[in-house]
Amino acid sequence: MDKIKNYIDGILTTPYSNNYFNNFDPSTGGVFTMIPDSGAEDVELAVSAAERAFPAWSATSVEERYDLLMSIARLLKERLEKFALAESMDNGKPLKLARTVDIPRAIKNFEFFSNAITQFSSEAHSTDNVAINYTLRQPLGIVGAISPWNLPLYLFTWKVAPALAAGNCVIAKPSEVTPLTAYLLSELFIEAGFPQGVFNVIHGYGHTAGKAIVSHPQIKAVTFTGGTRTGKDIAAIAAPMFKKLSLELGGKNPTVIFADCNYEQMLETTVRSSFTNQGEICLCGSRILVERSIYEKFRKDFTEKVKALRVGDPLLEETDTGAIVSKQHFDKIMYHISLAVNEGGRVLCGGKAARLPGRCSGGWFIEPTVIENLPYNCRTNLEEIFGPVVTLMPFDTEEQAIGISNSTEYGLASILWTENLTRAHRIAAELKSGIVWINCWMLRDLRTPFGGVKNSGVGREGGLEALRFFTEPKNVCIKLN
Ligand code: NAD
Repeated sequence: MDKIKNYIDGILTTPYSNNYFNNFDPSTGGVFTMIPDSGAEDVELAVSAAERAFPAWSATSVEERYDLLMSIARLLKERLEKFALAESMDNGKPLKLARTVDIPRAIKNFEFFSNAITQFSSEAHSTDNVAINYTLRQPLGIVGAISPWNLPLYLFTWKVAPALAAGNCVIAKPSEVTPLTAYLLSELFIEAGFPQGVFNVIHGYGHTAGKAIVSHPQIKAVTFTGGTRTGKDIAAIAAPMFKKLSLELGGKNPTVIFADCNYEQMLETTVRSSFTNQGEICLCGSRILVERSIYEKFRKDFTEKVKALRVGDPLLEETDTGAIVSKQHFDKIMYHISLAVNEGGRVLCGGKAARLPGRCSGGWFIEPTVIENLPYNCRTNLEEIFGPVVTLMPFDTEEQAIGISNSTEYGLASILWTENLTRAHRIAAELKSGIVWINCWMLRDLRTPFGGVKNSGVGREGGLEALRFFTEPKNVCIKLN
């Protein structure tokens, strides 16, 4: 059985405890690799390595960092197929999705931030004729990066690339549910000739390895993507230590559909925004609000299309939705489906586990599920399920649609379908979320601020926001006379 290794001080290494735990392939239910059970000792070693590396790394020129990060992008491009297969086996997502979305986006993250740092500049403020102020933006030192399992390499590199580009050393922990591509990435850092100790990867559980990163006094900032409850635990440790924090948390995103939308485009995109990656994307729309005049038509057309989605072996080209990432998450989603039924929900399609023959007979699959007849304020419509489950709700007025959209504790993304331009702008301003997509979904420009409001997070990632997060501004004031 292959053992995944930590990457500390430029070397692939075993965990201090010498203990490992199982890594499952969700499409078969079988164990296919072993994960280091790391803890505070491993984090300590990584921090020491990063402390040694930081003076030289933070003094490298922008061109040197650009070259090194671009060589990671190039190596990833060469190994795209290997990484896509690893991601699909680890997460259960369709291989074709990993090949066309996850790994290409990880490549883009390195390309984007190696370019972005060459364009990064700081401000100057002239104070009448008395003084001139300029802002130095210096790297923070050692930063911690903790990422989730749903878009493993995509989100891992979304943090690592800007942190390194800005001149920091990084201690990163991928999700213990999907650690494989982060491990393979550390091999590329060796191949690219990255200086030792600049980038370190610690594998293991959140409550041990993750917590050791968050609570280490030499780690000056923590960038985290994951669940809201975990974000709260992290903030409780990091905030009193006055660490810089970026928290990208859960969501319960509304898709709001008006009768005047481009119906065909809306229908096709809403199937995607509901069920891509088994609905395990923080940006998926899980509450679908439909203007009453087209509710019956939409329900019929949508359900028909969802029934046609092929749940199957992630390795097959024809598969639309793959396996649920873990048995634990599978059980959580099934619980939520039964809760929805107990709350009075009517299941229009799906609602049960999908049984696959052959290779995948032991895997964790759930049929794409559409539920209606639930009040907007029941648990099903308030709590994040993070799986292939959506609810349908009719609405009568714009005010009602906005009210329902804003009625959860979350505020990550909203999706709006209307051809009425003034209404689109009006509602976009009213929706309490960090991102609003109008007549589209997952159209991403990496320069834009990315993040949520309310319990969906604190801070923004992307473009200059990320480079600002990973640098400390220092004002220098020079008196002119
Ligand atoms: P999770 O919070 O369980 O785990 C995320 C990471 O945090 C993992 O690496 C885990 O090991 C680590 N962790 C857990 N407990 C920790 C602790 N006490 N201290 C430090 N680290 C700890 O989340 P998950 O189940 O992996 O991911 C799903 C969640 O992520 C969903 O809620 C989803 O909405 C959210 N998510 C948000 C975004 C976003 O951009 N806002 C993107 C993707 C996923």
